[in-house]
Amino acid sequence: MTQKTPAYGARGAKAPVAPMTIERRDPGPHDVEIEILYCGICHSDVHKVNDDWGNTQFPIVPGHEIVGRVVSQGTRASRHREGDLVGVGCFVDSCRACEQCRAGHEMFCTKGATFTFDSLEQDQKARTYGGYSANMVVDERYVLRVPKGLEASRAAPLMCAGITTYSPLRRFGCKPGDQVAVMGLGGVGHMAVKLARSMGADVTVLSTSPGKAEAAARLGAKAFVATSQPGALDPLGGTFDLIVDTVSAPHDLDKPLALLRNFGTMVLLGLPPDATSATPIKASSLVFGNKRLAGSNIGGIPETQEMLDHCGKNGIVADVEIIRAEQINEAYKRMQRGDVRYRFVIDCASIGA
Ligand code: NAP
Ligand code: ZN
Repeated sequence: MTQKTPAYGARGAKAPVAPMTIERRDPGPHDVEIEILYCGICHSDVHKVNDDWGNTQFPIVPGHEIVGRVVSQGTRASRHREGDLVGVGCFVDSCRACEQCRAGHEMFCTKGATFTFDSLEQDQKARTYGGYSANMVVDERYVLRVPKGLEASRAAPLMCAGITTYSPLRRFGCKPGDQVAVMGLGGVGHMAVKLARSMGADVTVLSTSPGKAEAAARLGAKAFVATSQPGALDPLGGTFDLIVDTVSAPHDLDKPLALLRNFGTMVLLGLPPDATSATPIKASSLVFGNKRLAGSNIGGIPETQEMLDHCGKNGIVADVEIIRAEQINEAYKRMQRGDVRYRFVIDCASIGA
């Protein structure tokens, strides 16, 4: 049995995101049914609709920064109750038995995680549709508790942008006094600033948009560097313990690597279009100074809950611009110009209304 659900999605590569109807399964014993209140727009949604990575199976309903209310729970579901404010991030199921799932790294499930949209359920048949919709049905193990006190619309981006930055900051030992640079002040970047700050680091924003300087300070950054100014990076050689690179377009890596201290790490979070992102780097950029270039992909359920609890304790939420579903295409255009402050969030009450 399935239920018809109003949604917004794209029917082909670069097609406008437009109203459509999707089918959701009836809740099973371990499922919760969620009325979606808000869904953030991640740049990955834009990449997927543009088929930047060459693997999108249309039609798609994007959206993996979801906050909503539980409206019903299955007979054997006990973690979340009707009325609870909950979150859903980038994946909704996995095999639960492999080494990765058991370690809480479900996104790397060796049998293949079920991502929140443009993916297959564990039966390898049903397709998944994301959060640009009115409701969804998810196994309760993949549903997160939103701590009390966090505003729903501003908590939604934590489900992807929050965990994507929290995880590498923790893994690379971000601590008081560390010098951390954040490249790209968009949805992911602004969460990196807030979270690194909450861990006691001194944060410098490296941005192509000089107009974001004031906001960077308000978000907690100690310094702001407009990278488009010739020579702007010269005084920063050998400064940073950690560089968090969130840029969504191809860009040079040798210059930022020169800004690392010896033994420092630069971690790539941005995923520029595959066809254009083969950025060569000089071996000497890493070898001289024992530097490390790393990557990081979202985070598992236990760490995502840990991040949410950290945000609850520290009052950390995203800076958002709330839009109606009809404004999604305009928001995509603005994100492609770097014009985002700092996450668009869809008011999902406007879907099917
Ligand atoms: P976003 O909100 O659109 O922000 C991206 C920022 O990158 C822009 O605001 C801009 O910041 C900078 N930028 C854009 N084009 C640039 C260019 N040509 N040169 C230099 N800087 C440029 O995007 P997002 O949602 O934060 O996502 C960023 C990237 O991370 C995307 O590729 C996304 O797919 C990826 N992502 C990865 C993960 C993961 O798990 N690793 C999770 C989520 C997203 P300034 O104006 O400050 O320069
Ligand atoms: Zn995302």
